[in-house]
Amino acid sequence: MEGSAPLDVLSPDAVSRVANALARAGRVTVLTGAGVSAASGVPTFRGPDGLWRAHRPEQLATPEAFARDPRLVWEWYEWRRQRIARCRPNRAHEVLAHWSRRLAGFTLITQNVDGLHELAGTGHIVRFHGSIWELRCGVPCARGRFPWRNESVPLSPLPPICPHCGGHARPGVVWFGEPIDPNVLEASVAAARCDVFLVVGTSAVVYPAAALIPLAADQGALTVEINPEATPASALADFVLPAAADVALHQIDLVLGAG
Ligand code: NAD
Ligand code: ZN
Repeated sequence: MEGSAPLDVLSPDAVSRVANALARAGRVTVLTGAGVSAASGVPTFRGPDGLWRAHRPEQLATPEAFARDPRLVWEWYEWRRQRIARCRPNRAHEVLAHWSRRLAGFTLITQNVDGLHELAGTGHIVRFHGSIWELRCGVPCARGRFPWRNESVPLSPLPPICPHCGGHARPGVVWFGEPIDPNVLEASVAAARCDVFLVVGTSAVVYPAAALIPLAADQGALTVEINPEATPASALADFVLPAAADVALHQIDLVLGAG
């Protein structure tokens, strides 16, 4: 593990070694989490903004919570949709969108559901946990099983109704305790076989997404973590850049651009 500089003052050596590894790599995979969107004003789950009306996300983002009180769960999602609708991609999203066009064999796996990577124009995205801008049937009925996009803010009335069966619709996201779509999992596992695996702005505690990090490391990828806080991934990363995502990615991109 290298790079123990204070917050946002990154070791130029670590930055340039990461940039050189990216420039040489045949396959680059980036795993992002809520920290990438923090500079856009989207609250993370585990930061001080993560509580809503004294409920923890782990108590709201579950099938059990939705079965018990769909309206409460939808009020939380509506609050989040309204906040996210006002947010724009930041420099971290922009650098990654640029890399998705420029770097060889690039894949972005995001745990974020906010749609900001898409808004920044990023290619080759795997949306590990779905999208807050999609709905699907909560029953589910046969036709409502497939998500549909609905970007209206506010969604009214709550809870929204499945147009196919008249039952409650639910957010098109993966909740705690739910399985990942097998196609998404397969694409992510395939992308973990890469030369450089960058982990940006994730607490690395939500599984199975967090398992991609040791998987990539075990298969020989150079692993790089960007996060102002230490996480369980820090101990196994080859490089730890302890800075905000927009700052660190911009610094790496400057060196890449100069090379
Ligand atoms: P998390 O809230 O658990 O962790 C966020 C991490 O970001 C922390 O480790 C924190 O230190 C770091 N961080 C904070 N500010 C940062 C910055 N400026 N730059 C870099 N890192 C920064 O989020 P998670 O790891 O993504 O995991 C949990 C789940 O929460 C995911 O499943 C995701 O679906 C969901 N979630 C998504 C969003 C979103 O779509 N933006 C927001 C909150 C939670
Ligand atoms: Zn339905």
